[in-house]
Amino acid sequence: MRAPRRDDLVAGVRAGDRALLARAITLVESALPAHATLAQEVLGQLLPDTGGALRIGISGVPGVGKSTFIDAFGTLLTEAGHRVAVLAVDPTSSVSGGSILGDKTRMQRLARDARAYIRPSPTSGSLGGVARKSRETLLLCEAAGFDVVLVETVGVGQSETVVSEMVDFYLVLMLAGAGDELQGIKRGILEVADMLAINKADGDNVLAAERAKRDYAAALHLMRGARAGWQPPVQTCSGRSGEGLAEIWAEMLRYREEETRAGRFAARREDQQVRWLWSLVDEGVKSRLRGSPEQRARLAALEAAVRSGETTAVAAAARVLATLGLR
Ligand code: GDP
Repeated sequence: MRAPRRDDLVAGVRAGDRALLARAITLVESALPAHATLAQEVLGQLLPDTGGALRIGISGVPGVGKSTFIDAFGTLLTEAGHRVAVLAVDPTSSVSGGSILGDKTRMQRLARDARAYIRPSPTSGSLGGVARKSRETLLLCEAAGFDVVLVETVGVGQSETVVSEMVDFYLVLMLAGAGDELQGIKRGILEVADMLAINKADGDNVLAAERAKRDYAAALHLMRGARAGWQPPVQTCSGRSGEGLAEIWAEMLRYREEETRAGRFAARREDQQVRWLWSLVDEGVKSRLRGSPEQRARLAALEAAVRSGETTAVAAAARVLATLGLR
């Protein structure tokens, strides 16, 4: 497939043309150097058109009801006139070769919705690579006029940290368990959550969900104390019945309003950009250091020398940096 011309891509994405948006995303995801160059040119031109969406991360363990929730939540938003893009960051997809998240068949209503766009997780590369592609895809979606971007991820491993680094608001979906609500709490998740929602609060599950809500609220309070600024709310909801979804959206809007007024909304994005810069530098340095088989062999020898005590770590690090022309 021949790549479209740069100007056509830029104009197409700006005009919200779905086919050209998809082509641009494919370029961003491509491993071919020529595609990468073109993708960077397109992104560079579109940068002034980005930044306009509310970026929302949504995570939870498999089976918590993410796709059902996003289908219903996204539909609520498109019915209110929003344009919603759904992206996925799925660290398991690069291992299994198949993406579990962001699959259109899991979001039947949104998949047919002209105001929504669903993009499954890129399937190749490390989590860092997947995250980088997703960040750039997010920018393309903003340039295409989507004003809400939902980034779905599983609440396992490192992906929640990676996703929290690219969104404005991080919603964690939880389930009410059988009396052991707090056992499943992962500290890392609570630290990045801007809101917790106890999902599947419907039918026989309503009471248990209410109880879990109180327990989680208490745990969050203990953990975060009376920290200044945004206190993550805890709420019950049901992706199936739609209960609680409008309230969750209202909290997101309240968050944006309060944090913007306090100057923290923009600051969070700025901090993310700076950390992103350094993670790209780190990644670039490491991949340059390991660029050739000879380099990799030299590094392995150096590691062995450090391990045996023949060389100190400090001296070895200086030698590694010297190969980059750095001291
Ligand atoms: P995901 O793996 O997190 O994307 O979860 P799914 O959305 O695929 O849902 C997993 C299972 O839970 C499916 O069998 C759904 O029908 C069910 N489910 C999802 N949301 C709800 C809900 O709000 N209430 C109830 N009772 N079941 C739900």
